[in-house]
Amino acid sequence: MSDLFKLSIVVPCYNEEEVLHETTKQLTGIVDELIKTKKISETSKIVYVDDGSKDKTWQLITEFSQSYTVVSGVKLSRNFGHQGALLAGVTSASKDSDAVITIDADLQDDVNAIPKMVDEYLKGAEVVYGVRNNRDTDTAFKRGTAELFYKFMGFLGVKLVPDSADYRLLSQRACEVLLSYRERNLFLRGIVPLVGFKSAKVYYARKERFAGESKYPLRKMVKFAMDGITSFSIVPIKLIMGLGFFIVLISILLLIYSFVQKINGNVVDGWSSLMISIWALGGVQLISISVIGEYVGKIFSEVKQRPRFTIEKDIYTEKTQEENKR
Ligand code: UDP
Ligand code: MG
Repeated sequence: MSDLFKLSIVVPCYNEEEVLHETTKQLTGIVDELIKTKKISETSKIVYVDDGSKDKTWQLITEFSQSYTVVSGVKLSRNFGHQGALLAGVTSASKDSDAVITIDADLQDDVNAIPKMVDEYLKGAEVVYGVRNNRDTDTAFKRGTAELFYKFMGFLGVKLVPDSADYRLLSQRACEVLLSYRERNLFLRGIVPLVGFKSAKVYYARKERFAGESKYPLRKMVKFAMDGITSFSIVPIKLIMGLGFFIVLISILLLIYSFVQKINGNVVDGWSSLMISIWALGGVQLISISVIGEYVGKIFSEVKQRPRFTIEKDIYTEKTQEENKR
């Protein structure tokens, strides 16, 4: 065995049969080059994570694992979502890799940033963020909402690295710390800055999806943003909050109405104040309860301690054990 470090590249895939050939071509090219220039060990691996795809994704992954030594894969038992798939890959890969890079399957993130990340790692950084230096390929709407989101998170006191997504390098130690955050409502880009250690940034241009379509429609994007801010599946509580605001609004209208009535001398003494306090207080109470409810909802989903992913088959570990025997 060489004393070079072992790198694993974790790639979450959900129905990516259209891009996987090209992704494999580009990633193996990069990995082979890094191996040839003696930057990383020849045991380094690409780890595809099949997140319950319904197309030929897993079939392709197994085929590639057979034809390329550097390719391996992990199959999840169903669709767990991008964040769950990332975590599954990091869990398997970090067991025996010195550093793990996570990258999307669709080649939107420039693979040429990988050698730069490796260089930063060799210089001592344990967390290397891929930061995009343009958002030209995004729609104005996505750009606007993303900016608003980062601002709002900043306002809430959540530290994020703007314009960095889930393209990053983590040292084995950083992976361990990341995995020790046990929350179910995963928002990795919020957790990574909490890991600490020496960090660096690598800039790259984000491209269009190579093929296929986004697996993050607006619906998923909104849900993802909500996960970042709070939790999910507490819709009834949200409705209560809406109701609360509605009632507060009514109380304001009532205030104006009863004020007018009072000036015109049309009301009994005490009617205005009673009416307004009933409605205003009712509204404030509903809002307050719903805010508490948000947190109770969060506790509810965390306390169940459900698995964050379930691995059905792990070619990565099989291959690694096979190699270690030799
Ligand atoms: N993905 C996943 N599980 C999902 C949705 C997406 O593993 O449930 C993967 C997807 O295959 C891709 C990455 O997450 O590699 C990012 O998804 P996508 O490119 O569709 O998102 P976008 O770039 O449009 O935000
Ligand atoms: Mg994409």
